[in-house]
Amino acid sequence: MVPNLSPIHDIIIIGAGPTGLACAIEAETRGLNYLVIEKGCIVNSIKNFPLQMTFFTTPELLEIGGMPFVTPYQKPTRLEALKYYRRVADTYRLKLHLYETVLSVEGRDGNFQVKTETRDRQTCQYRSRKIVLATGYYDIPNFLNVPGEDLPKVTHYYREAHPYYGMDVAVIGGKNSAAVAALDLYRAGARVTLVHRGSRLSSSIKYWIKPDIENRIKAGEIQARFDTIVVEITQRALVLRHRSGETVSLDNDFVFAMTGYRPDLEFFHTVGVRLDPEDQRPLIDKDSYESNVPGVYLAGVVVAGMFTNEVFIENGRFHGKVVVDHITEQLKKRAVS
Ligand code: NAP
Repeated sequence: MVPNLSPIHDIIIIGAGPTGLACAIEAETRGLNYLVIEKGCIVNSIKNFPLQMTFFTTPELLEIGGMPFVTPYQKPTRLEALKYYRRVADTYRLKLHLYETVLSVEGRDGNFQVKTETRDRQTCQYRSRKIVLATGYYDIPNFLNVPGEDLPKVTHYYREAHPYYGMDVAVIGGKNSAAVAALDLYRAGARVTLVHRGSRLSSSIKYWIKPDIENRIKAGEIQARFDTIVVEITQRALVLRHRSGETVSLDNDFVFAMTGYRPDLEFFHTVGVRLDPEDQRPLIDKDSYESNVPGVYLAGVVVAGMFTNEVFIENGRFHGKVVVDHITEQLKKRAVS
């Protein structure tokens, strides 16, 4: 049964990552009636990062709501970031509905209806004047689209190395996640093969990681296969094809496809947000991040569509102010008209 529609909110923010939380802080401090709806826990993506991860960035660049992120380290750890964002949510008493999935957004500017499903499968409906999509990009991996990718031994998320001691593991990809996972797995005693479709490791690998992975490859401690794609994954093997056409089958126990992630563009489509036919970037106003659907805003990495290397926590955290400034102005205009 769908409960009655709630009184109308000024803003419903979908997603409780750092960007969604930054939007919520802006709404909270302006006294707006807002709600954040998140299908997982707060900063769910960071929760899913490798357990022992250290950020590439310094703590002040992860700060939101003007709250200092204090750590004795130059670069914070995942655990510190989780604690920091929990503390932010507490301090601002953010209105969060967690473990609730948005099924649809319908209606129009000034009167949207948001249908959700809670963890216990209750359907709920809310009304809101404005919608902010801050849904991030870590939920949908770039799939290899090869037979066997759905086997339980294949993952697109690297968590920790210990379970792979003494195993034949393959890491697919040539950028930061692939390099970090390959090094970590090698150091935990896995036999690692790195498979990359490019001719060399990416120049975007961080300067303190790149020499390490290159030297492990040079020393033969990590096997690397460049210009190579995966054609099939079976229970015991990985079938690869080199650019030359040569095919090889390697013994394999586990596969880490570190092939990156992409935002849920299909969901945007259902909301009516159009994508540029050339490059799939969502159509948004550059100054307000309002999409082609009046009253629907994008914030964080989603503003860049598939170009997920353009927006990070470090710059996405500022979208909240831009979006909520614009919304506040619009709501004021509507109130006087
Ligand atoms: P990414 O930067 O998108 O790199 C994906 C890699 O997978 C690329 O080498 C790409 O190849 C390859 N790839 C993509 N689709 C493929 C396919 N279908 N078949 C074969 N190969 C495919 O992803 P990422 O390394 O996971 O990094 C994502 C973000 O997280 C980045 O911003 C990164 O800096 C960040 N990161 C942060 C940390 C940290 O803070 N500690 C750690 C790791 C990553 P091409 O190069 O040919 O496109």
